[in-house]
Amino acid sequence: MAEWDYEILWKETMNQIKGELSEQEFTMWFNLEYIHAAEHEITIAVPSSFYKDQVKQRYQVFIENKLRELMGKEVSLAFEVKPKKQNGDHPDAGIPEKTDHLPEKRSAADNKPKAAKKTAHSQLRKDYIFDSYVIGDNNSFASNAAFAIARNPGTAYNPFLIYGGVGLGKTHLMQAIGNFIYDNSDAKVIYITAENFTNEFIQAIRDNKTSAFKNKYRYVDVLLIDDIHFLQKKLETQEELFHTFNALYDANKQMVFTCDRPVSELKNLSDRLRSRFERGLNVDLQPPNYETRFAILKKKIETRGVNIPDEVIALVSKNVSTNIRDLEAALIKLIAYAELVGKPITVETAQQQLKDVFASPRQTNMSLEIIQKVVAEYFSLSVNDLKSKKKTQNIVFPRQLSMYITREITEYSTTEVGQAFGGRDHTTVMHACQKIEDKIRSDPTLDSTIQSLIRMIKEYNAKS
Ligand code: ADP
Ligand code: MG
Repeated sequence: MAEWDYEILWKETMNQIKGELSEQEFTMWFNLEYIHAAEHEITIAVPSSFYKDQVKQRYQVFIENKLRELMGKEVSLAFEVKPKKQNGDHPDAGIPEKTDHLPEKRSAADNKPKAAKKTAHSQLRKDYIFDSYVIGDNNSFASNAAFAIARNPGTAYNPFLIYGGVGLGKTHLMQAIGNFIYDNSDAKVIYITAENFTNEFIQAIRDNKTSAFKNKYRYVDVLLIDDIHFLQKKLETQEELFHTFNALYDANKQMVFTCDRPVSELKNLSDRLRSRFERGLNVDLQPPNYETRFAILKKKIETRGVNIPDEVIALVSKNVSTNIRDLEAALIKLIAYAELVGKPITVETAQQQLKDVFASPRQTNMSLEIIQKVVAEYFSLSVNDLKSKKKTQNIVFPRQLSMYITREITEYSTTEVGQAFGGRDHTTVMHACQKIEDKIRSDPTLDSTIQSLIRMIKEYNAKS
């Protein structure tokens, strides 16, 4: 490939990004060094493979969009791991980084006892395996069932449906089943999110390729569809999935689905598809307790091969209780920091580095209470009014508004929000959000009211 010189454009891109992110975020994640370029690809150096994964997940699309804006054409990023920067900007971290010094292309099966017989499955994350899934109070039933299914797909529990809130391990468990079957047999495994399934189906209709689509999904051995709550209202896709389901079910092919709530709570889902989802085994994942959180962190740390003292693990486990994704995010921040400054992590540095995370509204019910408090005050009501059953318009509207804001600025599920508002059903919350959305469309000033309320809430939250 011919060499292209995009270095100046790269610098400009970085400059612009710098202006858009906080200094801390930029310093932490944009330790990216331009190496060389081809017409449609820029290769940059990153200090470790861990860092590379993080940057890819968090910023690749963002950077590529920026590049496109600036250059007026598609340019993608390629990464090269260069453990030590020549200019000495970032001293050696002093923390062993297991994968760092290994060649880029490791076999997916390296960590597994089973033979390294084939390359990794292209749709499955190779680290989402049973070995890395910690069994705790919150998931023991689900993970045992998953393991049983992985060993005997298509027999006992079909379909298998895992539901639960965000970041509780649904995707990991689902992919562990996929990886296990893929590694131990010649079964054809497909993993797809419900969103992509929908998009692919729409595209197939457009391109007149529905029979290819049908063939693809009706002749697999294992079909994993993630986040089926996305199918709500997608009636045509539901119809298609219904037929796919029947074909696979009749052929004893294993299906696994995940959903962010019990299937019974899904709206705008055809009854016949709902009854199919409910047919096999439906299990839920709960948030992990302290011991499980500790064990999960310990495991992640072990796998990363970094050195983090137990007191720090305890601190994080204690302070991050929402879900495992948040727990991991906190850990990643610590590791990245340690890599960057080259110092071991102490309780003090952890506390310092994670103070935002610990204070994050998602960590406690704080932000929900704060939202209620701020909105109630704004409308001269009491928080109890918002939670009450009163149906007068002067209360209903603020109540709906606070529900809407909660959904906008927190990760609480409609079920959780409903609970916080006097034990209401999640459908009430969905209805409230819909109402507010409709109102925003007909009354543009409402949006600015909402924005100023959100600012007030954030200020209040930062102070408390
Ligand atoms: P969900 O799909 O429910 O939103 P994910 O499966 O994406 O959640 O999990 C979020 C993160 O937490 C992932 O990185 C996953 O590996 C990790 N995780 C979740 N549960 C466990 C567990 N029991 N043991 C180890 N890691 C876990
Ligand atoms: Mg998921």
